[in-house]
Amino acid sequence: MANKTVGVIGLGAMGYGMAKTLLREGFQVAGTDLGEAQRAAAAELGVQMVDSIAALCELTDTFVLSLPMAKHVQAVIQGEGGLLEHAPAGSLMIDTSTSEPDITRDLAGCLASKGHQMLDAPVSGGPAGAAAGTMVMVVGGEAAALDRAMPVLDALSSKVVHLGDSGSGHVAKLINNLLCAAHLVTTAEAVALGKRAGLDPALLIEGLNAGSGRSAISEVNFPRWILNEGFDSGFTMQLMRKDVRLAKKLAADMQLELPVAEQIAQIWAASEDNIADADDFNCIIKNAGLGE
Ligand code: NAD
Repeated sequence: MANKTVGVIGLGAMGYGMAKTLLREGFQVAGTDLGEAQRAAAAELGVQMVDSIAALCELTDTFVLSLPMAKHVQAVIQGEGGLLEHAPAGSLMIDTSTSEPDITRDLAGCLASKGHQMLDAPVSGGPAGAAAGTMVMVVGGEAAALDRAMPVLDALSSKVVHLGDSGSGHVAKLINNLLCAAHLVTTAEAVALGKRAGLDPALLIEGLNAGSGRSAISEVNFPRWILNEGFDSGFTMQLMRKDVRLAKKLAADMQLELPVAEQIAQIWAASEDNIADADDFNCIIKNAGLGE
C-alpha cells in the first residue's frame, strides 16, 4: 500500500495524530473536517485537505473515520453528500471512533449492500499513541476487510485484536472504557484514603505500581496527568461520559445487572453538574475523594 492515499474524516485530537503517523509511514493522506482550526492544523502537517466527502472520494477508496459520536458517523456515511452517495465502488471504511455497536452493525450492513467494506476499529492510546503509531485496536468486521485494512492498521497501532463480526470492536471498546472509568474512581478513592492516613500520594502510587493493586490508571494516568495536576491527556469529560453511558446501555440491552458498574455510571453522569464537557477526563478524581 506504499503511496496509497488514505482519506481521514475527522482530524481532531485523534485523527490529527493518525494522519501524522500515516504520513510518516509513507501514505498519502487527504482529509476533511468541519472545524476550521482542525483543517488548518492538518494542512500544515501535509494533509491534502478538501471541503467535502464527495471531493475526498475523488482521491481514494480507503477511509479512516475519527468522529466524536455515532450520530457523526451516521451523518458521514448515510447523510446527504456522505460516503454511501459518493464512495467509489468497493471502498473500505475503517471507523476508529468509539461508537455504538447496534448503529455500527446497521451501517456496515448498509455499506455491504452497496459493495463496500466496513470495520469498527476503535482505539486506545490517546493522541500521543495516535501520533506515535502505538495505539491498540479492537476490531469488528469480516476477516477479508481486516486483511485489506492491515497495512493501515499496522501503521497506526502496536496491537490489533480481531474480536469477531461487525460491532464487536465497539462492544470491546465500551467494556475497556467502563473499566478505565471505574479504575479512575477506585484509584482516586484509594489515594484519598492513603492521604487521609498520612501517606504521600506519589509514594503511594509508586508502591501500588509495584504491587497487585495497579492498573493503567495508576501506572500511566496518575503519574502523567493527575499527580502533576497537568490534566492534559487530550481526552475529554464529554467523550468519557458518552462511553460510560453507552457501556451502561449495553449492560441494560444485555439484561445484565452490574451493581458496581451502575454506581460508576452514576458517578460519571453526576459529574455533569461540576465538571465541564471540555475538561480532561482525569478530572473525575475530584469527585472521588480528591477534590480541593
Ligand atoms: P475530537 O472532538 O477532538 O475530534 C473529532 C473531530 O471530528 C473534530 O475535529 C470535528 O470537527 C470532526 N467532525 C465532526 N463531525 C464531522 C463531520 N461530519 N465531518 C468531518 N469532521 C467532523 O475527538 P477525539 O478526541 O479526536 O476523539 C475521536 C473519537 O476517538 C471519539 O469517538 C473518541 O471517543 C475516540 N477516542 C478518543 C481518545 C482520546 O484520547 N482523545 C482516545 C480513544 C478514543
